[in-house]
Amino acid sequence: MKEIILAYQGEMSLKGLNRATFESVLLKTMRRRLKSLGNFKIYKAQSTMYAEPAGDEDIDAAEERIGKIFGIAAISRAAVCPKDFAVIADTAKEYLCGALRAAKTFKVSAKRSDKTFPMDSMEIARELGGVLLSAYPHLKVDVHHPDVNVTVEIRDFAAYVHGGKKPGAGGLPVSTSGKAALMLSGGIDSPVAAYMMAKRGLSLACVHFASPPYTSLRAEEKVCRLLERVSAYAGRLYMVTAPFSHIQEEIRERCPEEYFTLIMRRFMMRIAQRIARRQNCSALVTGESLGQVASQTIQAIACTDAVAEMPVFRPLIGMDKSEIVLASRKIDAFDISIEPYEDCCTVFTPRHPTTRPELAKVEEAESVLDIDALVEESVQGIYTRKIVPGQTEFDFA
Ligand code: ATP
Ligand code: MG
Repeated sequence: MKEIILAYQGEMSLKGLNRATFESVLLKTMRRRLKSLGNFKIYKAQSTMYAEPAGDEDIDAAEERIGKIFGIAAISRAAVCPKDFAVIADTAKEYLCGALRAAKTFKVSAKRSDKTFPMDSMEIARELGGVLLSAYPHLKVDVHHPDVNVTVEIRDFAAYVHGGKKPGAGGLPVSTSGKAALMLSGGIDSPVAAYMMAKRGLSLACVHFASPPYTSLRAEEKVCRLLERVSAYAGRLYMVTAPFSHIQEEIRERCPEEYFTLIMRRFMMRIAQRIARRQNCSALVTGESLGQVASQTIQAIACTDAVAEMPVFRPLIGMDKSEIVLASRKIDAFDISIEPYEDCCTVFTPRHPTTRPELAKVEEAESVLDIDALVEESVQGIYTRKIVPGQTEFDFA
């Protein structure tokens, strides 16, 4: 029996004029993500995307990958058969046999987009319900909360039989909202921020600050592995690493300790912004959450944002740590995030950071530094790595 995956669009079908662009992005994304699984034919009809294996391609793996593509609201894995009621009934009996045996209740939903099919949806549902009740006499019909929702879709090319739609990744196709630069550490929060903004259709350039020799190559490799997990959703990613040790040493030597973190964060913003512009990004993204640490109070965020010349998105701002951890586990990043590698933020932590900084004082404290030269030096030292879904090895010495 031939199986296929049907992927249904969500919000994007509401977006009128953008629809054609969205659909073509989605088709391209599906092709790219399934490519390494063999020969899948990917096409669309009636706002639904089809992924059809040419032979014995791994359809479980394809389903899992498609389940991580933003812009797809629901998925079903269906048996394909000719548009003939007797064949449809046999297909339903056989294809859903396991699920129907294990179920106590079921219902039949039918959708007929090919109006030349001689039965309407009500008739299909009624007739097929009768066939299934006699084939599986232990079953009862429950139209509100069935264990199995036997679904028949009569479409242009064929009839499709499945056991109900499953939720997809939701959101908007990556890149249809534009591009932003994500400030990415090796922690729990920023990978979740990446996931959330990619879900809203942003493509991401990732900026990571490294402070060798205080931070190791292993720490950087950890960030790459984290990004690989994110790339299962966000697609291919580029990570730009910017050297940060000299800046941190300068701040440590020449600025008051209580402002250390804030001044450092303002440098991060300035550098990330320079990289963002080069990469055609129109916003910055961070993993900050209100009140989580001293640098994430309203006053501290105001001081950081004072150097930002583009919108700064903080998708986790209203989330509790426990909610962030749940999201992190969901995207399979948590195990890597908690590996105990150093981050440049943890290298020189002040003992008593201020929680209510005043912008004028922070500006005065950092004015002893040659800010432009330090930013320039870091930007001159950046290097880029490419991260693709499924990558397990990174070229670290
Ligand atoms: P995370 O779990 O993402 O590390 P956090 O709770 O540890 O966040 P901070 O260390 O204060 O908080 O960092 C706040 C945000 O600053 C991070 O979410 C990230 O966006 C950015 N950031 C922190 N460290 C780095 C880094 N080394 N490189 C790039 N961005 C960073
Ligand atoms: Mg951190």
